[in-house]
Amino acid sequence: MYGSIYLDNNATTQIDEEVLNAMLPYLKEEYGNPSSTYSFGKNIQKDISKARNNIAKMLNADPDSIIFTSCGSESNVSAIMSSIKINPSKKHIITTKVEHASIMETMASLEKEGYKITFLDVDKYGRLDLTQLKESISDDTCLVSVMMANNEIGNIYPIKEISKIVHERNILFHCDAVQAVGKIKIDVKDLDVDFLSFSGHKINAPKGIGVLYVRKGIPFTPLIFGHQEKNRRGGTENVPYIIGLGKAAELVINDNFQKEKEIEKLRNYMEERIKKEISDIHIYGDLDNRTPNTSSIAFKGVKGDALLFILEGSNIFISTGSACNSQIALPSHVLTACKADLDSFSPIRISLGKYNTKEEIDTFIDVLKKNIEALRRRK
Ligand code: PLP
Repeated sequence: MYGSIYLDNNATTQIDEEVLNAMLPYLKEEYGNPSSTYSFGKNIQKDISKARNNIAKMLNADPDSIIFTSCGSESNVSAIMSSIKINPSKKHIITTKVEHASIMETMASLEKEGYKITFLDVDKYGRLDLTQLKESISDDTCLVSVMMANNEIGNIYPIKEISKIVHERNILFHCDAVQAVGKIKIDVKDLDVDFLSFSGHKINAPKGIGVLYVRKGIPFTPLIFGHQEKNRRGGTENVPYIIGLGKAAELVINDNFQKEKEIEKLRNYMEERIKKEISDIHIYGDLDNRTPNTSSIAFKGVKGDALLFILEGSNIFISTGSACNSQIALPSHVLTACKADLDSFSPIRISLGKYNTKEEIDTFIDVLKKNIEALRRRK
């Protein structure tokens, strides 16, 4: 008998023991406020700097360009709201149809304020057409925002090519890298992005801490005013979580994507077994260009949400899409954009993490097989 099997690491990840241990002193004895003028508190500033340096190193960024936020969503919203203030007369923004809810909802709100938003299409594999991007840019465009990796299907988007197109027209470029950090190499200088967002809880740090990278020299207007983070994000620093995120970044750097290679092997092993042992399946996304841990699989005639529910009964946790949408019974906007036949092929999303084992995958497939056979027999 097994305990529980967690296969939803795009929703969140387990805190690494080393991250937790790095955080604990700051939840106990080192509880001072880094803005204090006395040493108990003030000394914590150097620990925050160390965390900031680790994060900067992970992204090949200047430490001064790293702003701590409360989450990936805040980083996304801050980047958008700040960048549109730079050219207030320009009222056109370009993004894609497959972004995270934090981007989609911000765009919906800006649309109500009179902005024109272009949502770029994707093909059936979830791929963007960069010609459409080029053709959509106008003299009125003030911002382009494209994610680096998709949370549901794992597609990796050509950020370097996109930033080149965008910058040739002197437009600002934001990239939501929440699902990419820790999974693929990110070098903000090489990618030439102006803003980049990510979140701690996707890389084995806690929930409630995020980062916004802002390229040096770009004027920045905070979402929350105050003196912290060099006047760019008010609010007393979330010291334990910042330290935890710094540790998580150090682990990512030291590991140099070796764990991700193992995760990818495990994901591929899982898909191969499923393909061999279960008939009529479909895997969504750009299969040769995905994050190493993600698999969006559908079993013909079997509803993803029915499977989710049944697997939960066996203590196996997966999702049908993004955690933020999966409590609402709406079809996935990502797969709708891919024009997926969701009536016949309604997927589950399996997203692996560094603690998953081959034994867990074998158990998962055995349980999955049994239940799919049973559900199909009932039809
Ligand atoms: N962007 C993407 C692509 C995500 O997958 C998520 C979370 O799932 C977010 C942004 C939001 O991050 P957070 O949960 O830290 O707000």
